[in-house]
Amino acid sequence: MSYVDEVIEQVTAQNPGEPEFHQAVREVLDSIRPVIDANEAKFRKDALLERLVNPERQIKFRVPWIDDNGNAHVNTGYRVQFNSAIGPYKGGLRLHPSVNIGIIKFLGFEQIFKNSLTGLPIGGGKGGSDFDPKGKSDREIMNFCQSFMLELYKYIGADTDVPAGDIGTGGREIGYMFGMYKRIRGLFEGTLTGKGLSYGGSLARTEATGYGLLYMTQELLKDHGIDIKGKTAVVSGAGNVAIYAIEKAHQLGAKVLTCSDSTGWVYDPDGIDVAALKQIKEIDRARLTEYKNYRPNSEYHEGRGVWQIKADIALPCATQNELDIEDAKQLVANGAIAVCEGANMPTTEAATKYLQDNKVFFVPGKAANAGGVATSALEMSQNSERLSWSFEEVDSKLNQIMVNLYHNIAKAADKYGYKDNFVVGANIAGFEKVLDAMNAQGIV
Ligand code: GLU
Repeated sequence: MSYVDEVIEQVTAQNPGEPEFHQAVREVLDSIRPVIDANEAKFRKDALLERLVNPERQIKFRVPWIDDNGNAHVNTGYRVQFNSAIGPYKGGLRLHPSVNIGIIKFLGFEQIFKNSLTGLPIGGGKGGSDFDPKGKSDREIMNFCQSFMLELYKYIGADTDVPAGDIGTGGREIGYMFGMYKRIRGLFEGTLTGKGLSYGGSLARTEATGYGLLYMTQELLKDHGIDIKGKTAVVSGAGNVAIYAIEKAHQLGAKVLTCSDSTGWVYDPDGIDVAALKQIKEIDRARLTEYKNYRPNSEYHEGRGVWQIKADIALPCATQNELDIEDAKQLVANGAIAVCEGANMPTTEAATKYLQDNKVFFVPGKAANAGGVATSALEMSQNSERLSWSFEEVDSKLNQIMVNLYHNIAKAADKYGYKDNFVVGANIAGFEKVLDAMNAQGIV
């Protein structure tokens, strides 16, 4: 059996009940076969792949907190410090009831290659909790975040591990966590990114994942002689990634017809009203059912369904495995040109294959949504030099990073004979730098 297949089998056997982690490992290892096969004996001797798929450290802790009625609750907190070969661990904190160790490991594993692709010196990590922020009061959120940090602070630091936002963790949560970290450590340092602008945050960080997704999509289309201007798009999600993806899509002259949240979805034939969406989601923290009050011409539907709407571009910006094989068939039948992932691994393996087989350009999240973490790294740089850059400066760096990233993955795919297979391109390009750093540092 080949070394790659052996390690895929091992991961499945040794990490039972973690299907998303298996899926992420399978996707990466499958893609890097050409690199591994060419050096199989050496890599096997060095246990390179075993070291790649086993996190350097996994931390699991109890998070007790008290609700507004005085009742105590216990959630589980996680931080997986996956790989520090190219820099301090870097990655978000997800607060969602679906969080478990397998989810955090899949996200942490993806983060290694994503962070490598940014070209910036950041390793891969991820954390979070099964705490559900939905319906909680502001005090309860603060209470949870403080308790979470009271344990997590032991393991993080500006030069060791720098967490940030993800699903359920936005500016408010980062603020509460940063406040607690500063109080416990007595240190004002850039240990978290996605901070508010008044205390060390970076301009354009809020917008970065969504904007970056569109810079990448624009470059992909341009490289194939297609203008994004005048194109239609379907977006899923209504969180930070979706909102700023829609905003930038409109700025670039495309029209976004849909968005969704955990209970339903909106179809707006005139193009999603971003100001309304921001009011509903960022300020009122309400459901998309409210959208109709702003746009009487729009439709609201319960459940899922954005991929039924005919459009040129699909941007899944909600969560893992939200776009399945039936959705992929619908997109192909509707003549979609490209699918670029704003979320982490939102497309199932079968759907990805179907899209690729049917010549739909497909850019995986680890490349397409890397603008968020890239801008986090720019926030770290600004914190280190105790300066703040202008919006234009950060945004133009982000744009350049995404354009370079696109060409790097396209080039890597081409080099190994997989032209326009951006999954292979992203995994190989991301892996090569990590491989080089791991080899240089010995067996650690
Ligand atoms: N959670 C984001 C991601 O999946 C951002 C992480 C960060 O900024 O560290 O990449």
